Amino acid sequence: MSTPPIPRRTSIGVRVGDVQIGGGAPVVVQSMTNTATEDVAATVTQVIELAQAGSEIVRITVNTEAAAAAVPRIREELDRRGCDVPLVGDFHFNGHRLLAKHPACGEALAKFRINPGNVGRGSKRDPQFAQMIEFALRFDKPVRIGVNWGSLDQAVLARLLDENAKSPEPRDLDEVMREAVITSALESAAKAEELGLPPNRIVISCKMSGVQELIAVYQELARRCDYALHLGLTEAGIGTKGIVASTAALAVLLQQGIGDTIRISLTPEPGASRTKEVVVAQEILQTMGIRSFTPQVIACPGCGRTTSDYFQRLAQQIQDYLRRKMPEWREKYPGVEEMHVAVMGCVVNGPGESKNANIGISLPGTGENPVAPVYEDGRKTVTLKGDRIAEEFQALVERYVERRYGQA
Ligand code: SF4
Repeated sequence: MSTPPIPRRTSIGVRVGDVQIGGGAPVVVQSMTNTATEDVAATVTQVIELAQAGSEIVRITVNTEAAAAAVPRIREELDRRGCDVPLVGDFHFNGHRLLAKHPACGEALAKFRINPGNVGRGSKRDPQFAQMIEFALRFDKPVRIGVNWGSLDQAVLARLLDENAKSPEPRDLDEVMREAVITSALESAAKAEELGLPPNRIVISCKMSGVQELIAVYQELARRCDYALHLGLTEAGIGTKGIVASTAALAVLLQQGIGDTIRISLTPEPGASRTKEVVVAQEILQTMGIRSFTPQVIACPGCGRTTSDYFQRLAQQIQDYLRRKMPEWREKYPGVEEMHVAVMGCVVNGPGESKNANIGISLPGTGENPVAPVYEDGRKTVTLKGDRIAEEFQALVERYVERRYGQA
């Protein structure tokens, strides 16, 4: 069955290194490191991990002199190791000083992220914002004007609250806050344009931590501008809460064609890999039929008919195997990311789902013969039995991929 297409909002395309955001380009997946940027080795390792997981742009914090000095060394080491993922510098408070003192940092980055709420307080705000835009022009880089609910420009908020108080029909406080987030982004973008930065070098984001607030703000942003939009729920949270909240918010907007690049701001569980945020971003886009990244495993939930957790382990093993192989397969087997692999627990839905997948296995449920038929392109090709079913099925998947996608 083919997926019905989702009409996309028209936006102005922005080049970030070799990657395009907006302007009809596929929705870009990005992520951010959580290493100290001055730790060059740790940051390089994490950037490579994120890029190998599928992050097409990686943001790093540039918060200190040491971090700014480390950026060109990070870029150099990434290039030396064959990783060309564009790096974005995340600047708050002191970006204008760091870029003045470390021009090589500005050169090495592919984009600057500027938060209008953190660019400078009071009379320093406008000149420091202008300096950041001048650096973007000097180094020929795009910028993301990244407003964040938690660090909203207080001057904009105070002005809108004041106007609202004087209005004959005042709006409620939440509405004024949302308007302040949007106004901060759009006024900053207009200022950047006045300073000479063309719209094809401006990406906007307005991150909120509430799902409904995020949806409302982006719908309004999409209505009022045609800048490329970076989507993300800020401070999404840890574990399933963060994944569900991000998915709920982003899915609604993506379904409306809103969003040119996404980042999932998950708090990693202790010891968990940072790459989880990349996997979640890809899964959202792939399950919605917007982009394909990795072959999908269709697995039933299991029930009283499943004799053991064997099929759950097999489904997990196959899923991990497919993800592990993707960096190699992506080059070698174009189209493999569209493949569907079914791992099913019994005869009720097993053969049906397996026949619909590219390759599928139907494991025996309680009381069934201890055999596992395998289906390839809708036909039963072999029946596996014994205690090596997992290994044998994995080998069959490998052969299927070679045969089906090898000649593409
Ligand atoms: S396919 Fe079989 S084992 Fe899986 S959920 Fe359905 S009935 Fe249960």
